Amino acid sequence: MVCDCCRRKKKLFESFAAIQTKNGQLNFCVECNDLAYKVRDDANELKSDDYVLHLEQWKKRAKKPSKRFIEWQQAFLAPLEMKLEKSGQQKSE
Ligand SMILES: [Zn+2]
Repeated sequence: MVCDCCRRKKKLFESFAAIQTKNGQLNFCVECNDLAYKVRDDANELKSDDYVLHLEQWKKRAKKPSKRFIEWQQAFLAPLEMKLEKSGQQKSE
């Protein structure tokens, strides 16, 4: 098994996270899965600086992402971006 984000091979005894998408299953190693959760938590807590930082780290990991991964990531990030954008607008009002 290979991580769909960073393409790293699963090590013996390591557990990968499985994410069901409408196009099939994605598998994430612990590090990539951690970053995905951090990005989501940052957005939910409206920490836009942390969000940008973690998103950058996450995207750096995804060196050769599959089309399925990119599609899933875009769908994953869209509501988060919207949430942050909204909160940014509210602050400047
Ligand atoms: Zn990975």
